[in-house]
Amino acid sequence: MGYKTRFAPSPTGYLHVGGARTALFCWLQARKEKGKFVLRIEDTDRQRSTDEAVAAILESMSWLGLDADEEPIFQTDRFDRYHEVVKQLLEAGHAYRCYCSIEELESMREKQRESGLKPKYDQRCLGRKDIPEGVDPVIRFRSPEIGHTEFDDQVRGTISVENAELDDLIIQRSDGTPTYNLTVVVDDADMNITHVIRGEDHISNTFRQINIFTALEKPLPVFAHVPMILGEDGARLSKRHGAVGVMEYKKQGYLPEALLNYLVRLGWSHGDQELFSREEMVELFDVSDVNKAASAFNVGKLNWINQQYLKSADVERLAGLLAEQIHDLGMECSNGPDLMAVVDLYRDRVETLHELAEQVTYLFVDVERYDDLAAKKFLRPVSIEPVQAFHDGLSELFDWNTASIEAVLNEVLERLELKMPKLAQPVRVAVTGSSSSPSIAPTLELVGRDRTLNRIIAAIEFMEERQKSATQN
Ligand code: GLU
Repeated sequence: MGYKTRFAPSPTGYLHVGGARTALFCWLQARKEKGKFVLRIEDTDRQRSTDEAVAAILESMSWLGLDADEEPIFQTDRFDRYHEVVKQLLEAGHAYRCYCSIEELESMREKQRESGLKPKYDQRCLGRKDIPEGVDPVIRFRSPEIGHTEFDDQVRGTISVENAELDDLIIQRSDGTPTYNLTVVVDDADMNITHVIRGEDHISNTFRQINIFTALEKPLPVFAHVPMILGEDGARLSKRHGAVGVMEYKKQGYLPEALLNYLVRLGWSHGDQELFSREEMVELFDVSDVNKAASAFNVGKLNWINQQYLKSADVERLAGLLAEQIHDLGMECSNGPDLMAVVDLYRDRVETLHELAEQVTYLFVDVERYDDLAAKKFLRPVSIEPVQAFHDGLSELFDWNTASIEAVLNEVLERLELKMPKLAQPVRVAVTGSSSSPSIAPTLELVGRDRTLNRIIAAIEFMEERQKSATQN
């Protein structure tokens, strides 16, 4: 049987980064082994599953480029098959109907607790003859009672449990719907899944699933349980820690290859290498090298990786993504310069495209107010003269480009015997509203001639006002 992995999310919310990492591991392993990778939507919980969540999962997978080799399988399309398997298990004596009410089960557990026992279904319905009228039974799987169940986990080594610990779990509810442990086994068997890679929160289910595989006389897949992702505070990663939905990272201006690169390093390493192309990941990753210990999500590290990818990504692609960010900030790209030039000037200065967009708002909308501190420090009356001289020089320029702007700048600095910051800083505040931007000449080239001249005039007026009020006081 060919190597095959699956990613099996429950569509009860967005795809979070923990799920995305599991999906990545499944995908990498399948690609590495030249096998197949498939997606299974575990939507049997009708109350909690939504179409929006399904759409969000598919969108996230496609954004991350984790392509599947077959159409996704939806568990809700397979109820007939699950019922067929339950029937088969009933007929073979591997399952039985249980008519116990919730109250009855509760009092049974209470008694067990009182006598110091671990609560466990006591099989009172196994072989039951007095079938109560009008009660829809649940179906329980008959777990082995003696011996132990064990498996060789690719991440954690041999794990085993005493069968006495295992309950006769419910595989079909009284309303006829199958439960998770049954559907997973039926699907993994029917889909010929050879390797199950998933979160370690499923280890306790694995023993139950192994027993169901065995009862069905199906070959066992190989299991690999990967550790959880924690927040920086050491608690399990959750909404509380900020963005956990994959598409939220897109919104925040991360590149999918950067997020994947970050995720592959959460719990896996290759020497001290930090950056991996997709091809390198496929070649070097092996799920059996994944660390047993949980790893903490570190936004600083993700930002650093994203920055590295921003430096080398195709400029046209980044310009397209920047356009989306600018649009999301409520601005019109058509009001500004060529976005490829913006990317070129800024890509080394930012960690995300969102940050880039926020830094360049002055290219798309008027500067309505200056950053208070910057204005206080740099738009002072002493700067009126050099700024005016610069304005006059610029207004005579025939060609508006970095080189010609620089020539005017140097000429004014020399004539007035000033150092660069004395002129560049007030001009920067005048034109961008703040005191930080890339070099002044290329910045002004992007802002454009008319805007630059108008903004410099407005700043001169601002400084003159300041001078006036200073002399009045
Ligand atoms: N649907 C399960 C979950 O989202 C995954 C089951 C599995 O991978 O076996 O946690």
